[in-house]
Amino acid sequence: MIRTHDCGAIRRKELGERVKVAGWIRFSRDHGGVLFFDLADCNGNTQLVFDPEAMNDITEIEQMDRTLRSFGRESVIEATGVVRERVPGTEDPRNPTGEVEVLIEKVRSLNSSKQIPFEVAEQKNSLLPGEDLRLKYRYLDLRRPQMVGNLRFRHRFLSCARQFFDSQGFLEVETPCLTKSTPEGARDFLVPSRTIPGHFYALPQSPQLYKQLLMIGGIDKYYQIARCFRDEDSRSDRQPEFTQLDIEMSFVEEKDVQGMIENMLAHVWACVFGTELTIPFPRVSLNDAISKYGTDAPDVRFGLELVDVTSIVKGVSYEVFKKIINKSGIVICLNLKASLLSSSLSEANALGRKEVDRLIEWAKIQGMGGLTWMRATEEGLSSNIVKYFSGEVRAKLIDAMKVELGDLLLFLGGSEMQTRRAGGALRVKLAKDIGLVNGKRHEFVWVVDCPMFKKDPVTGRLEPFHHPFVRPARGEIDPDEDMSAVGGLSYDLCLDGVEIGSGSIRIHDPSVQRKVFGLLGMSDEEIESKFSFFLEALGYGAPPHGGIALGVDRLISILLGCESIRDVIAFPKNKRFQSLLDGSPARVEESKLAELQLLSLAEEKSDKGDLEIK
Ligand code: ASP
Repeated sequence: MIRTHDCGAIRRKELGERVKVAGWIRFSRDHGGVLFFDLADCNGNTQLVFDPEAMNDITEIEQMDRTLRSFGRESVIEATGVVRERVPGTEDPRNPTGEVEVLIEKVRSLNSSKQIPFEVAEQKNSLLPGEDLRLKYRYLDLRRPQMVGNLRFRHRFLSCARQFFDSQGFLEVETPCLTKSTPEGARDFLVPSRTIPGHFYALPQSPQLYKQLLMIGGIDKYYQIARCFRDEDSRSDRQPEFTQLDIEMSFVEEKDVQGMIENMLAHVWACVFGTELTIPFPRVSLNDAISKYGTDAPDVRFGLELVDVTSIVKGVSYEVFKKIINKSGIVICLNLKASLLSSSLSEANALGRKEVDRLIEWAKIQGMGGLTWMRATEEGLSSNIVKYFSGEVRAKLIDAMKVELGDLLLFLGGSEMQTRRAGGALRVKLAKDIGLVNGKRHEFVWVVDCPMFKKDPVTGRLEPFHHPFVRPARGEIDPDEDMSAVGGLSYDLCLDGVEIGSGSIRIHDPSVQRKVFGLLGMSDEEIESKFSFFLEALGYGAPPHGGIALGVDRLISILLGCESIRDVIAFPKNKRFQSLLDGSPARVEESKLAELQLLSLAEEKSDKGDLEIK
């Protein structure tokens, strides 16, 4: 055994014991010949001390002094010594091992370290080097206590989830990574086959089809901590490969899947936070989410709901609103309650003219014409534009917005989509600015009653709202109905204004599935070539089934309050989806392309545009 204790383990109960520890030298200090070292590993750090006074043999003292001074930062050593109390007044109350130290008797180098490119010891985020450098030397970045903490939390979360699923009779089943394409709305990563030239595997965008096949295979309750791959345009909270907590169940309805997720999260909450999570989570229809919160992923931790007041302000003589409404736009209103301001962390108990002017500027940056406001005073609504609003309109506004003394009404107007989106951003901005949200309070909400399809605004073609396997709410689709009105049995789970999960009850009737593929514009040949295996499987007594997938990286990063999902992934890609650590994606030798016959394939591109071997 190289060590008897890890670096976070030694406490008062070890006083007087001879221990052997091993780890990285994070810091060293020389206090007049007495040398101190912080020896660290992922469990914590222990103070080692070399005290010449405590040794007798002068040659030994000199030799030990020389050896210890030769150790650089982050070199790896093993030390044996006796645990003793720290000198009174030098204890470190923030460190669990901070009352004791190990008086070094013997020491041995296990490995040296080159000069480290950035500080590994705990420090404020603002002192961190640029992320690219952290990603290049990720193994050093992972030594930082913050990163260790993130990975430890992720591990705890997932192991509690596993525990829960196990207790409920779920089987954890791995599904393939070399697959046929699974449409989730992104591009596939393709892997060329060497054994069957001209043919490609796709990396799974999700295990969707396999988990459905597992249900057809009678597995009943499946889960997997699954790796998914999507070649999408890079966005700050995206990774080309990411992890889903993927679930599928047979003989269930929406509420069964939702209930299972709520119970799982409540179990995990109790394990990792030791607190009770309130379940069931509220449900909001997609339409309400968009009209009240301006987004399909609402943050329900605070009120500040948006109200569409277009019908109330329709006849007013205020030119700005008149123009908007004439162009079929909408006007929405948000009531910033005086009571919210006084109970919030904000020092100001009313938003003054300067803050309102800043909001107007902010609204312009959002692409809005501006922002209109009215304040509720003893004399009623007041602002420079109330004169354009009749007494009746004002009364209606007061009623619709539940206005009380001191409240501030904020109006946005313009085209429907843009106005709702800006309204959604406004409520989130206000909540942040006045301190209505803090990182510790989390709220889940289900978004339900979603449509089956959406229309591509450019081509007008139908696209799946979620994916093509969602069951229509009626179980059937009549090709003559208005497709934009067809509801699907899908649901999204949102946490603090971010979508963290998406699921549905699936189509289990092959004829309905075929119809949906057709409505999505696939020809019979395309359906055959892409999905015949799946339609075939549905034909052998597929049970009613449904499921969901939660985005693990995003969920964990929200719970930890991380700015980026990269902080909860051991080896993430950067914003350009490159791995700076190993240099991937990388060029490959021509010989490898030749082996895969990719070069000759490119030359032999068939007229159809498909790659074919002659
Ligand atoms: N496969 C879906 C997704 O990745 C989740 C599901 O429907 O279960 O979003």
